[in-house]
Amino acid sequence: MQHRHLLPDEIDQLLDGESGVDVAPLLAHLEACPDCAQKLTDARLVCESIEQLQHFAPSPRFTASVMAQVQVVEPWHVALTNTAHRLVPASRRVRAVMFASGSLLAIGLSAGVVWLLTRPDMALYAAGLAAGRARRVLLDATGTVITDAFGQPALDALRSGSVSRVALGGALVLTAVGLANVSLRAAATSARRARE
Ligand SMILES: [Zn+2]
Repeated sequence: MQHRHLLPDEIDQLLDGESGVDVAPLLAHLEACPDCAQKLTDARLVCESIEQLQHFAPSPRFTASVMAQVQVVEPWHVALTNTAHRLVPASRRVRAVMFASGSLLAIGLSAGVVWLLTRPDMALYAAGLAAGRARRVLLDATGTVITDAFGQPALDALRSGSVSRVALGGALVLTAVGLANVSLRAAATSARRARE
């Protein structure tokens, strides 16, 4: 007989009706120890009572109804990673095309910036030429409207060209934003197509 009381998992073994070499010393201990014998009797009683209870099963929609009330919070870095994964196309060919066009765009933009930096006079001349032409066309069309709405000083300010630089800057920013928007949309569309 072993010189210690039975452990909970040993009582479980006896409850499960296991047999074998390791069960024999447990049974021998039970013979000599009324405490452990009582524990086993109690455990057997609990098991039998549980067996007699009515068996309940959750309704088929139990999981859905619980999960409907659970707010699944997605950490920002997971959301960011998922978004990036969605944007990157699965197909290697589309990825290569995207990479190539992105590189071309970057090179083109860089070259344009370098050209603007090295030839500010040319850039200003071209911009001024375009702005002047656009201003003349616009003023011819809207001069009367502006005079009616804001008075002659507003028309004079527009004619003098001080406003045209601001307008040119605004137009450039709008064009850049539009281009970025279009290329992002194209990238997203090709990514979606690649996934389908
Ligand atoms: Zn014992």
